[in-house]
Amino acid sequence: MHVGHAEAKTLKAGDWALGDRTLDGLLLPPKAYEPGQCIARSEESLIRKPSAYRPSSHLIAKLRDYEVRHKRCAPKAVHFSQNGTNSMEDLGDCQFVVWIANSGLGNRMITIASAFVYALLTDRVLLLDHNGTDIGGLYCEPFPGTSWLLPENYDYRWMDKVVWENDHRLGRLLQSSGYANVTLPAPVPNNYVFANLMHNNDEHDKRFFCGKVQRQLKRVPLLYWRSNVYVVPGLHFVYPFHRELDLMFPERGTVFHHMSRYLFRPSNLVWGTILRFRQPHLAAAHRQVGLQLRILESNITAPAVADQLLACVLEKKILPQQSPNTEDKLLSSKTGSTAVLVTSLDEVYYQKLQNYYLDLPAEGPDYIGVHTPSKEETQQFGFDHDKKAWVDMYLLSLSDTLVTSPQSTFGYVGQALAGATPWILTKTKSAETAEETFQEHGYCNRGISLEPCFHAPPLLDCKGRGPGHALDPSSILHFIKPCEDVLGGVKIMPSTAGDRTDERLHQPLSPGIKI
Ligand code: GDP
Repeated sequence: MHVGHAEAKTLKAGDWALGDRTLDGLLLPPKAYEPGQCIARSEESLIRKPSAYRPSSHLIAKLRDYEVRHKRCAPKAVHFSQNGTNSMEDLGDCQFVVWIANSGLGNRMITIASAFVYALLTDRVLLLDHNGTDIGGLYCEPFPGTSWLLPENYDYRWMDKVVWENDHRLGRLLQSSGYANVTLPAPVPNNYVFANLMHNNDEHDKRFFCGKVQRQLKRVPLLYWRSNVYVVPGLHFVYPFHRELDLMFPERGTVFHHMSRYLFRPSNLVWGTILRFRQPHLAAAHRQVGLQLRILESNITAPAVADQLLACVLEKKILPQQSPNTEDKLLSSKTGSTAVLVTSLDEVYYQKLQNYYLDLPAEGPDYIGVHTPSKEETQQFGFDHDKKAWVDMYLLSLSDTLVTSPQSTFGYVGQALAGATPWILTKTKSAETAEETFQEHGYCNRGISLEPCFHAPPLLDCKGRGPGHALDPSSILHFIKPCEDVLGGVKIMPSTAGDRTDERLHQPLSPGIKI
């Protein structure tokens, strides 16, 4: 169901209090999972509004198949070799994608989801590196009766070698066959390939998104996946994947929304913290506005972004103005409350909003309560920080309306779990030109798609035609367009009326273009 830019349906608490714990069939019924292992699975629907987007029956069937395959194949990972020499006998008829952890938590979540979509498309099984990134401590196991983590005894010293210099890097293997050939050795020695999907990979690595390469990868049982970007838009460039993605996600712009709700559920430890913050601070409000602030450019300052944020929420009427001329009638004039949740490393945004709403009364019938769960100040690594980041993202995702920062994967997770297309703060080049930029583009604008941006999409040359012949990723498919927030990035746009799956499937991928 496509509801355009509408936010999650306006529902009263009672409407979802006994909510559907399977999320419209996305999850199995609670009895399929180990009791007590994941309290959030049974309690989440009490605090999260139902999605405005229903998962397709095709997606649900693919997930049920996947769960069976995962349970059967994951135990075989104990046979993974410690030096990359895997025999076909050890792996049997199972094929794997092994995700290697990278970057901050938001990046990790968008890359786990990307690798999982790839596993669904290629009948592989996804296993996660949890060395130094306590995935098991942060999230519930998503697949019943099994684990998505690599086995306890997995030798991570080997994984450190799955980097640029590795002989099995896809780009390197393709390069050695000559640029025009686009051919992998057959068989691939040791039965594994390292897919380098980092933002700064090379033109050969980028051929991961070519149909010819994907056909050859079908023979390779083990694929290592190292990435810091959301690559799902690029998977549409492979025609069989495109067809399958359209069946799984008839509303195209909901891939990460459904996948994040399927995969990421707070562990019991994290769930407790979420509730201990939410219940006293946010639960009573009839509306929650989430503000996510992250500065990824060195030439802008937090106080300047705080001014921009306030101007944005007032200009777009996301929050009410102060009304200095109105006498505050206190209890008799205010009937409800709006909770504003500010998530950021820096406290300045919280303070700005807090002062604004404490100083003078606000227009309208609500008290405005401003809250912030954590004050980390700098980006850090380790379980405690990841846990705070996950708590912040999750609380953000319970918002009705979101304002996010451009380019931040942290915000992408919040918006996807919420199912709310955010307002995105306008990117500025420098303090000197900021006002001019705001005059022209506004302080913030409504995003056009719920999907994350693929920050580093490929310039595709799958036929080896040579320099100057690569295809611009934003001109291959009509629904993959430049991102609102990252120059050079592309993203999946929402499906539009008349753009129905069954009609599209009878048409060539993009008339006149062969990749
Ligand atoms: P991105 O860098 O904005 O794309 O997001 P990531 O999540 O990948 O990396 C940023 C990291 O910085 C997070 O994982 C956190 O560790 C930290 N961080 C950034 N913003 C916040 C925030 O609002 N709250 C908390 N607790 N941590 C944050």
